[in-house]
Amino acid sequence: MGAKICCICGKEYKGMGHPCKDGDYCGDCEKKVTRVFPGEDAYYETSAAIRAKLEKYADAIAAYDSVPRPETCPICGKKLPKLMSMRLLDAYICMNCAEKASGLMHQSYDAIGCMCLGEILPFFNKASVQGGKTDSGGVFHDADSLRVLYPLIRTLRETPGEDGYDVDYIDPLDSLSDEELRSAPERAELRRSYLRQQYGDHKAIFEVDAVTKLYNTSKGRRFYRDEYRIGGRVLLGEIALRDTAVVRRGEQPRELQIRKLGDSREYISNLKELKEGSEGGLFAEGVLSFVYPGDILCID
Ligand SMILES: [Zn+2]
Ligand SMILES: [Zn+2]
Repeated sequence: MGAKICCICGKEYKGMGHPCKDGDYCGDCEKKVTRVFPGEDAYYETSAAIRAKLEKYADAIAAYDSVPRPETCPICGKKLPKLMSMRLLDAYICMNCAEKASGLMHQSYDAIGCMCLGEILPFFNKASVQGGKTDSGGVFHDADSLRVLYPLIRTLRETPGEDGYDVDYIDPLDSLSDEELRSAPERAELRRSYLRQQYGDHKAIFEVDAVTKLYNTSKGRRFYRDEYRIGGRVLLGEIALRDTAVVRRGEQPRELQIRKLGDSREYISNLKELKEGSEGGLFAEGVLSFVYPGDILCID
């Protein structure tokens, strides 16, 4: 068997070779490839795409073995445990941060391990992760206090698999200019007083989107029960468990007791509170014949 030409580096090599989409590459290249392609990913890539990625990360790959293991996690600053840590291409981080990164970036652990710290950090600087945003004057603006104006935007992201989609959030706070951020607290207060004028003074105001009757499944059958999820958003204030919601729609006011609270996902019902500006579900029992989409619930 004659010498083969590596489809990535162009050098001659002996031995088995490693297949990618349009050729085979040498063992030297393979060592580099495993640094930047998780699992079997390189198998499905073209040699040109692999070559481009190896070039992009050339410095980090070359320095891989000389990366020192720090005492503390470079993301959260906590002590880095000896065993429970994750090796990135150019750094070590703690498993806590690795797990967060995996969730924030919708990537597997393997994929996170093939990235540089600089690619991961921006996700940790997001307002939703930091709990707020700092303006250029160094003033920290608490995210919760601004959600009345800038609620998280819920989007659906298509993913292959059973559900077909995942919930994803866009945080408008991340794209605010410094000017907008500095004027936001005052505008948030204006918005609150406007809502109070419109709906009266209440602990919270909730706008209804949808009312869903809930069911149990048993032996493949659905059994509907007298429990409903009232989906919508908190326009103002905070809602806690066992708060009372009142509907006024011309008729006499009707009351309902909030038994459980959930976030925007229909199957979650174990929250203790729903914060201002958040989407969520109020769970109520009994016959519910007086709540419609578009209704405003006054919570006290
Ligand atoms: Zn090669
Ligand atoms: Zn950490």
